[in-house]
Amino acid sequence: MNIKNNIINLRRIIPPSCKIVAVSKTHPVEKIREAYDAGHRIFGENRVQELTPKFEALPTDVEWHMIGHMQTNKVKYIVPFISLIHSVDRYNLLEEINKQGAKINRKISCLLQVHIAEEENKFGFSEDEILGLINSGAFSRFDYISVYGLMGLATFTDNMEQVRKEFKGLHVFFDRVKSMALPANVVMDELSMGMSGDYHIALEEGSTMVRIGSAIFGERH
Ligand SMILES: *Cc1c(COP(=O)(O)O)cnc(C)c1O
Repeated sequence: MNIKNNIINLRRIIPPSCKIVAVSKTHPVEKIREAYDAGHRIFGENRVQELTPKFEALPTDVEWHMIGHMQTNKVKYIVPFISLIHSVDRYNLLEEINKQGAKINRKISCLLQVHIAEEENKFGFSEDEILGLINSGAFSRFDYISVYGLMGLATFTDNMEQVRKEFKGLHVFFDRVKSMALPANVVMDELSMGMSGDYHIALEEGSTMVRIGSAIFGERH
C-alpha cells in the first residue's frame, strides 16, 4: 500500500470542497506518519483508547476526529484536543461532552449522528429526535457544544441503490434542518457521509466530509 499515492489519487477524485478524514484505526503511528509526511492533517479514530496515545505520538497540528460510538466515561480523555466528534448519537453524550467542555472552558465541535441504515445495531438519533432536540430549546443549555452538521453510516450492503437512497435521504433531512430557525450553537455546514466503498456515491449525494480508511491505509486485520 503506498499511502502517499493513495492520498494523492483520492485528492484528485474528491473535490477540494469535500474534506477527507483519513481513518487510521488499527494502523500504527508509523503509517499515520506516512500520511502526515504526504501533507495530510485530518485523521479519524473510533476508539478513545487508541486515539489518545496516537494524539500524544504525533505532531500537534494534526486534526483528530472521533468517528466511533463512545461511552460517556471516556469523553473526558478527548475533549482537551479533539477537533470534531462525528458520532454524537444520544442525548446523554451531548450532556457529558458539554460538562467536560465546561470544566476546561473549551467548546467542543460536534456532528449529530443520524440513524439512516436498515440495521438495528447502528447508532444514531432518529430524524424526529433531532427535530425534537432543536425545537425543545435543549441546545441553549449546551454552552460548550457547537454543532456543525450531521453524520450518517449507510447499511453494510452491496446494494448501492440502497446506499444511495440512504445518503439522499440524509441530504434531504440536512437541508430541512438547515432551513429551520436554529439555536445559536447549531449550524448545518458539514454532512459527513461516505467511506472507502461508497464515497463516490456520497459525493454525488452532497457529502462535505468523507471518512476513508482502507482506500488509504489498506485492509485492516
Ligand atoms: C472504519 C470507519 C470508516 C472507514 O471505513 P473504510 O471502509 O475503511 O473506509 C468510516 N466511518 C466509520 C464510522 C468507521 O468506523
